Amino acid sequence: MAGDEVIRIMCPNLGCQRVLAVPSSARGKLVRCRGCGSNIRIPVPRAESPSAPQAAQPQQQKPAA
Ligand SMILES: [Zn+2]
Repeated sequence: MAGDEVIRIMCPNLGCQRVLAVPSSARGKLVRCRGCGSNIRIPVPRAESPSAPQAAQPQQQKPAA
């Protein structure tokens, strides 16, 4: 079964910065760093973007003759 992806996240604690390996099922949850014991929130990657970024369309100005 695919989908059991391991996410590597570094502890935001500057005094720790330990790389934690958490399963993908822990996305959006809080994991506890074993190094310093601080709670780290696992970011959730947005694969599906509901709203597409609006591309700036240059308006063609017609020369008024
Ligand atoms: Zn830590």
